[in-house]
Amino acid sequence: MPPIIARTRDELAEARSQVGGTLALVPTMGALHEGHRSLIRRARRSADTVAVSIFVNPLQFGPDEDFDRYPRTLDADLDICADEGVNLVFVPPRSVMYPDEPQVTVRSGPIGEVVEGASRPGHFDGMLTVVLKLLNLVRPDLAIFGEKDAQQLAVIRRMVADLNVPVEIVGAPTIREPDGLALSSRNRYLSADERQTALALSLALHAGSDAVTKGPDTVLAAAATVLDKAATANPPLLLDYVVLVDPATFLPVTPVYTGPAVLAVAGRVGATHLIDNVPLQFSEEP
Ligand code: AMP
Repeated sequence: MPPIIARTRDELAEARSQVGGTLALVPTMGALHEGHRSLIRRARRSADTVAVSIFVNPLQFGPDEDFDRYPRTLDADLDICADEGVNLVFVPPRSVMYPDEPQVTVRSGPIGEVVEGASRPGHFDGMLTVVLKLLNLVRPDLAIFGEKDAQQLAVIRRMVADLNVPVEIVGAPTIREPDGLALSSRNRYLSADERQTALALSLALHAGSDAVTKGPDTVLAAAATVLDKAATANPPLLLDYVVLVDPATFLPVTPVYTGPAVLAVAGRVGATHLIDNVPLQFSEEP
């Protein structure tokens, strides 16, 4: 059965009333790829019904960011949803999500103001606002998000805990190209040369992971060595940050830290902003 496509709140309510059992929502901005497919499959394993939302949320783009040129590939996205057995696709136009300029929005607080939030002021507030709206509209039992956007996942978990949002948040692992590049809707902006430079992000994470037994400072130094080299490549990587943080707070870990951490990196190649991260575990010295 092809998915039901809902564009308005009424169509969504009608579709929602037709589907039974537990429902998992996979929120996306479209331009779907293998990473999104993996989230849909994760949703299918955990719920009777799978809904995908496709909405390029203007609230989470800064004034100098790529909202206008963000890839919009609705026909291909709907084919992928059908192929993956999605039951319901919610594709609201902007006028449905934001009939007026919103007055009341969600503030991410300190966890959304560091790392990616420091590079992109307001980004996490805009993201949380649309995620809460989507959760309220679709009313899923579960919502699936990629660990590729690790800080986004942490900020959403914090919103759900702090505001008692009645949904279970599930994180799903990052899907990569065979050479390590994390799949992203923005990869299609990259020329062949830019893509070559962009590989430094995942190579740096790899180098950092390999040094995990030597402690946080060595992990950061190993990642920085790879990134420094990419800064002089042609075209160069313009590094935004490389950080080693506590996954719950996104604050930097200390040099003697033990426990889970996230090594996160972001940078620009040409006009394309790319992020990536890897989860790490620091154990006590034997
Ligand atoms: P986006 O459409 O880029 O907003 O992403 C929608 C969802 O897909 C988010 O939860 C992302 O974290 C997730 N996602 C994006 N890229 C990947 C990837 N390479 N692997 C797994 N999940 C991803």
